[in-house]
Amino acid sequence: MRSSVYFYPTLKETPQEAQIVSHRLMLRSGMISQVTAGIYTWLPSGLKVLNKIAQIIRQEQDRAQSLEVLMPTIQPAALWEKSGRYHIYGKEMLRMVDRHEREMLYGPTAEEVITDIFSRFVKSYKDLPKRFYNIQWKFRDEIRPRFGIMRGREFLMKDNYSFDLTVEGAKASYQAMLEAYVRTFARMDLTAIPVRAATGPIGGDLSHEFQILAETGESEIFYDAAYETLDVNTITLERLQTLYAAADELHDPQTCPVPADQLRTARGIEVGHVFYFGTKYSIPLGAYVTGPDGKQVPVEMGSYGIGVSRLVGAIIEAHHDDKGIIWPESVAPFKVGLLNLNIKDKACTEMCEDLYQKLLQAKIETLYDDRDMGIGAKFADMDLIGLPWQIIVGPRSVTTGQCELKNRRTGEKIEISLEDVLKRMCYCG
Ligand code: ATP
Ligand code: MG
Repeated sequence: MRSSVYFYPTLKETPQEAQIVSHRLMLRSGMISQVTAGIYTWLPSGLKVLNKIAQIIRQEQDRAQSLEVLMPTIQPAALWEKSGRYHIYGKEMLRMVDRHEREMLYGPTAEEVITDIFSRFVKSYKDLPKRFYNIQWKFRDEIRPRFGIMRGREFLMKDNYSFDLTVEGAKASYQAMLEAYVRTFARMDLTAIPVRAATGPIGGDLSHEFQILAETGESEIFYDAAYETLDVNTITLERLQTLYAAADELHDPQTCPVPADQLRTARGIEVGHVFYFGTKYSIPLGAYVTGPDGKQVPVEMGSYGIGVSRLVGAIIEAHHDDKGIIWPESVAPFKVGLLNLNIKDKACTEMCEDLYQKLLQAKIETLYDDRDMGIGAKFADMDLIGLPWQIIVGPRSVTTGQCELKNRRTGEKIEISLEDVLKRMCYCG
């Protein structure tokens, strides 16, 4: 993509309304634009990152034997009357009436819709377990939308729903999702700590939130120092139940089993939440299957959310410096930024064009800064938008055949020939 064609309206000044670094950097790098409180347009580079995050989540959900569906954003109130949640959900639910005076709502979550589908199509224990997920926009009329897309009103969520015959089966689904989550976050260069959590309006009796440690996080968490040595890649539900880590609403200093000098506290960003809630929805919505003995059994369920759009902000909170964003390669809008230092120099521009075509042929996602503007501004923009690699070509490159390759994360710069830089970009990352 050429910068002259692309659209990333960067800002030099820090926008006044943004209180945290990820919000500031998303606005400054032209990833999002606010439409009204808590509602955003995703501009081209923001959308690219959002889609890459969604794709990683999708791959790990598929690996965990889950089937992707797409449920609607608008749901009928009647389904929520059945589960009993319509009148208790409160003001976070955006309610509306259609032309036939039927009450509708913009879904804040989808337990009712998926349980209803299950109840109509799945009839036998032989069809279990079943896991369905979708990546769809949700709406919650948050009292205080803030921090940009971190706490939006409209936001993208991955929500998975598991259906099992037995409690043990449901726990195996829960475990499969824990593993999928750890893998998912690791692929985005994030370490997310699973902490015990309250179940809130979803309900149920077993629940963990995945928290990314960050000073600007809205959650406060308490955990055993032993947690710090835990290899999250080998996480099991059993192990989690013996290790103390809790969200503040569950933490009680009076009953906390961890000695005071072993107890750690930190701020976190909640990027995922898993629940096991048994038959809370299957009984009222009629999701029963025929068991091995021929009897009707209500299915055991769990639900598992990931804040897809919130993750964009969380990744920036974890990966930035004073110059801008530093994208992990797996979610970067482009892998490489190619900087032409003098667009008016014919030979230099020919060299850049040639390299750009070769990068495209090698399928390396490249943003070619071909704009006619000062090099200071070009360098600042490139650091701000945070692509993992920068290839810098100037008039001097024409005589030496060398360009500069900069690693955005380490700041390390090397002189390298144009052939070698192409090879490096094909093999690294
Ligand atoms: P929170 O405690 O942050 O309000 P929640 O417990 O209400 O979140 P869940 O119902 O567990 O959220 O939703 C699943 C995931 O969706 C959360 O873990 C979070 O990452 C994301 N999420 C929830 N609310 C928002 C929001 N207003 N804006 C962006 N992402 C959100
Ligand atoms: Mg939560």
